[in-house]
Amino acid sequence: MSVPEPAGGEEKQAKEVEDAEKYSFMATVTKAPKKQIQFADDMQEFTKFPTKTGRRSLSRSISQSSTDSYSSAASYTDSSDDEVSPREKQQTNSKGSSNFCVKNIKQAEFGRREIEIAEQDMSALISLRKRAQGEKPLAGAKIVGCTHITAQTAVLIETLCALGAQCRWSACNIYSTQNEVAAALAEAGVAVFAWKGESEDDFWWCIDRCVNVDGWQANMILDDGGDLTHWVYKKYPSVFKKIRGIVEESVTGVHRLYQLSKAGKLCVPAMNVNDSVTKQKFDNLYCCRESILDGLKRTTDVMFGGKQVVVCGYGEVGKGCCAALKALGAIVYVTEIDPICALQACMDGFRVVKLSEVIRQVDVVITCTGNKNVVTREHLDRMKNSCIVCNMGHSNTEIDVTSLRTPELTWERVRSQVDHVIWPDGKRVVLLAEGRLLNLSCSTVPTFVLSITATTQALALIELYNAPEGRYKQDVYLLPKKMDEYVASLHLPSFDAHLTELTDDQAKYLGLNKNGPFKPNYYRY
Ligand code: NAD
Repeated sequence: MSVPEPAGGEEKQAKEVEDAEKYSFMATVTKAPKKQIQFADDMQEFTKFPTKTGRRSLSRSISQSSTDSYSSAASYTDSSDDEVSPREKQQTNSKGSSNFCVKNIKQAEFGRREIEIAEQDMSALISLRKRAQGEKPLAGAKIVGCTHITAQTAVLIETLCALGAQCRWSACNIYSTQNEVAAALAEAGVAVFAWKGESEDDFWWCIDRCVNVDGWQANMILDDGGDLTHWVYKKYPSVFKKIRGIVEESVTGVHRLYQLSKAGKLCVPAMNVNDSVTKQKFDNLYCCRESILDGLKRTTDVMFGGKQVVVCGYGEVGKGCCAALKALGAIVYVTEIDPICALQACMDGFRVVKLSEVIRQVDVVITCTGNKNVVTREHLDRMKNSCIVCNMGHSNTEIDVTSLRTPELTWERVRSQVDHVIWPDGKRVVLLAEGRLLNLSCSTVPTFVLSITATTQALALIELYNAPEGRYKQDVYLLPKKMDEYVASLHLPSFDAHLTELTDDQAKYLGLNKNGPFKPNYYRY
């Protein structure tokens, strides 16, 4: 019996192939010698993502993600080495330029080494530079960016520069800047305004220094969290006359773009990188699978074999966490609200329970739902002595930490990012990173995964910048599947993976173009 296609599936697939032949994308990049998948000179129209939400005021304070504690553990410098604000310092790089504001330009050499280490695991971006072969798909692009400033982002920024762009950059999080990396970027001539431990005022000042410049006007925005976009909307709306597009990485920022779109206020095309397969399936799943143990080990030195762990939420992040914990011999329970995800957890061999059923016995509680108040004070009251509680979701509201700030409980800071909350009877609960993202607060995240997201961002910028007028309207677009496939193909050589090519006969049988896309848009991976 043949399984029927979803309604319109065949038509949709056919339309994509037809569209793919209509578009010319990144000719300069794709003229390069053939590799595994050829990202042909064709491109389907980006799939629009449905607009979900209603109107929201633009006037707001610094975003939560911007103030979330994020200690770039790979950074060997911090804000305490010098009490003078970078804003008060006169600094110049070796070429005499002072078009930057960083903690200490003298750390540039050290930062360069960090960037070089990151480059080793970001070969896709390096190959993008090479594939451009001297041609500059971003020539004339003036990109204003606001992202975490780490060695990995530096590789992205320098790739954009190598492809012809001029960049001005600030940090999207007040704690996440690697000072030495910012110094290395400034030494290389990038106008970077960022340091670890910025105040809120510094944060907006740095963004402003990137946007409000005599004789330089941005024509592209790369944002992570939406703060930069918000600032331009609020302070310099006329800048949008020249902006060709916004590329946004985060859940939060994308959410805001859809709100703007719904309110009819989005005045340029925007690309939603967050929901592309190569972001969601890799950053959320594999990044968390790799970093959950790192965060827990660095903070608590806990051994997982035989420990009872409950993971709240079995989405991409939860799946990654559960897989890592199971591999170390932990007994893993899952809580879910969604029967589909619950069934997946069952089939993967996990017991699906209500939190209240296991809360007395578990040694570790991990939240990854993106929801709020998943772990309540009642749960915390019932936990056993030494239970470790942490969060892997975006927001610090998954664990009701506020409910623990009551007079009868004593807080003891035992290590950086580790608090013992002590009940009157002596019971201690070990709270990590005050309920903020564990892996971003207490460990590093794998460079290779960041490379996948960074490559997607670079391609989104190239596409938006080079798109002929009219291809993209004032709306939010998803990356086309073909671009996702290209990003993946750039990363395959790292594994010496050898792709099978469709024969003509097979391609015809499946109704596919031999160069992709290989899956319909509704395919879920
Ligand atoms: P997802 O939507 O795939 O998964 C969340 C799951 O939680 C869903 O299956 C949902 O049904 C379930 N859920 C919601 N409320 C629940 C509740 N009260 N109890 C139990 N389950 C509940 O999302 P995701 O991609 O797994 O991301 C989860 C969170 O992690 C988001 O906030 C996301 O921004 C964040 N995130 C973190 C990292 C990181 O590095 N730590 C990386 C990517 C995403």
